[in-house]
Amino acid sequence: MSSLTISKENKEAKQAPSLFQSTQHIIQQALEKLNYNEATYELLKEPLRVLTVRIPVRMDDGSVRVFTGYRAQHNDSVGPTKGGIRFHPDVTEEEVKSLSIWMSLKCGITGLPYGGGKGGIQCDPRTMSFAELERLSRGYVRAISQIVGPTKDIPAPDVFTNSQIMAWMMDEYSHIREFDSPGFITGKPLVLGGSVGRESSTAKGVTIVMREAAKVVGIAVEGAKVIVQGFGNAGSFLAKFLHDAGAKVVGISDAYGALYDPEGLDIDSLLDKRDSFGTVTTLFPNRITNQELLVQPCDILVPAAIENQITEENAPQIQAKIVVEAANGPTTMKATEILTQRGILIVPDVLASAGGVVVSYFEWVQNNQGYYWAEDEVNEKLERILVQSFHQIYQTSLQRGVDMRLSAYMVGLRRMAEAVRWRGWV
Ligand code: GLU
Repeated sequence: MSSLTISKENKEAKQAPSLFQSTQHIIQQALEKLNYNEATYELLKEPLRVLTVRIPVRMDDGSVRVFTGYRAQHNDSVGPTKGGIRFHPDVTEEEVKSLSIWMSLKCGITGLPYGGGKGGIQCDPRTMSFAELERLSRGYVRAISQIVGPTKDIPAPDVFTNSQIMAWMMDEYSHIREFDSPGFITGKPLVLGGSVGRESSTAKGVTIVMREAAKVVGIAVEGAKVIVQGFGNAGSFLAKFLHDAGAKVVGISDAYGALYDPEGLDIDSLLDKRDSFGTVTTLFPNRITNQELLVQPCDILVPAAIENQITEENAPQIQAKIVVEAANGPTTMKATEILTQRGILIVPDVLASAGGVVVSYFEWVQNNQGYYWAEDEVNEKLERILVQSFHQIYQTSLQRGVDMRLSAYMVGLRRMAEAVRWRGWV
């Protein structure tokens, strides 16, 4: 296989490769280790399809704003594509493409009958009214309706989107198709066909893989000092679960800053005080920065916010024994190398954050069956899948002498590489 070509601008500026380029590089390494041919890499290194849409939205003041959105579908050889939609000012086509590939990996690792997809709209929902968000959500569904559907591509929540947004999107899709289509989207409110346990499933998944990682490192989660960066859906549920499980949550953060207390934070009171976007640190004058938080003393560090947080600059100072990546892409390739060399166990994003899509799959199955499960059934099945996925990746990393991220890519890509071969695509 030809080696990865870093773009000209990157070479000249001697910049670190982008997350997308790093992702392609690890895909190449993983497929090489698994002995797949060049054509398999050529096919899997990019999404099969990326749609860019422009969405005109009537704002409350009567003016019209035109938003840019994307939907990327990485590969549908295993089954329909699946993955969330994020509403964020920094959304780019390249980010959505990377995220769609990571969704393929999550589904491959956990054995779901899906490939990866992802969508995003460049917008700042924190500055928009409820009515404007509804019009934007419906406009996006109209714009992408041709390429999505319960057996084509199934969206879900992601950064700054929630069950209300899923409900509007499901309603719009059902109007377009002229029949009720709960299986079009997951992460819905319970009364519209949502699954019990979906809202907290990403965090629940993180606690499961964290517990397994702690076992192999020889520490207990109970009594461990944990830092959780990010107080959104994953971070806030996680802080609560860890606190309830007897861990000492010593640090949390939001987009505006971080709180650290070696004696442990009062998580219940922080949860009470946060707003609907997870902001709470602005209430505390003694807050530190997110970057300062990451290098504070702790046993387990959980980046649960955004991309590129652990880099070659701060990786040498990270004090944790385990890094559990609840966010997508929080650690750069160079930082992964540094942490691995320092003997810090990384539970990679494509494994650690897979709980959300696993329960989304359960939601879709329940929608297709029209038969709804009890919470213990959801939890039991989630537990079984993630424990097995963790140990498969951990064992592969030991047996093949590769870091946890490369191991996760090897496990996650194998089925898709087989599927494209069986279909005769490569
Ligand atoms: N947005 C979540 C993720 O990145 C969930 C995707 C889904 O449930 O389909 O994994």
